[in-house]
Amino acid sequence: MMKILILSLSLLLISAMNTAYASDEDLMVVDENQTTAVNQTALSLALSDEASGLLTSLEEEGLLFMAEEEKLAGDVYSALNEVWNLRVFDNIGRAEQTHQAAVEMLLERYSLAVPANQAGEFSNESLQSLYNDLLSRGGLSVEEALRVGAAIEEMDILDLQERMAQTDKEDILLVYSNLKRGSENHLRAFVNNLERRGVQYSPVHLSQEEYDRIIEG
Ligand code: MN
Ligand code: MN
Repeated sequence: MMKILILSLSLLLISAMNTAYASDEDLMVVDENQTTAVNQTALSLALSDEASGLLTSLEEEGLLFMAEEEKLAGDVYSALNEVWNLRVFDNIGRAEQTHQAAVEMLLERYSLAVPANQAGEFSNESLQSLYNDLLSRGGLSVEEALRVGAAIEEMDILDLQERMAQTDKEDILLVYSNLKRGSENHLRAFVNNLERRGVQYSPVHLSQEEYDRIIEG
């Protein structure tokens, strides 16, 4: 009896420890179409363990940029869903809102103001003109809209890689690496959608080598 009690207690302790150190699998929720959303509760739990500290100006600029880039993805997909009424835009668009919220969680953690812009509006001028450009391209045809989706995910992967190289903060790296994994899943989802329509997609931002690695992954 006592042995069983001790065993149960140890199992309880082990599962409590697992909760405290949430694994990557818990942080991201992937559906059967590769739509990848952030589990906000698991993320805020995981972040509570990480040390914070002062941000360099590069890290600060990176967080503000990435929050808006995730917003750009969400806003473009939601606008393209209005035009084409396609489930991939609806699902991934909603997942992007959780990506934006994840970066905003970091902004709040470092007491930075979270930019409050309407849908389709951006503080960063280059992201604003990118949004306008992508939206008009995505309105041309449903295939072009799916290409816009894949191109956004390619850009997101590269920008996250760039920002990851500029920080050694564990909390920022945790969020960026998971968002990058999400972008790789989303890239595969858009490419699969194009293939089902008989369209062969070639990378426009990533190197062919890196693109192949992601698609095969
Ligand atoms: Mn994203
Ligand atoms: Mn994405």
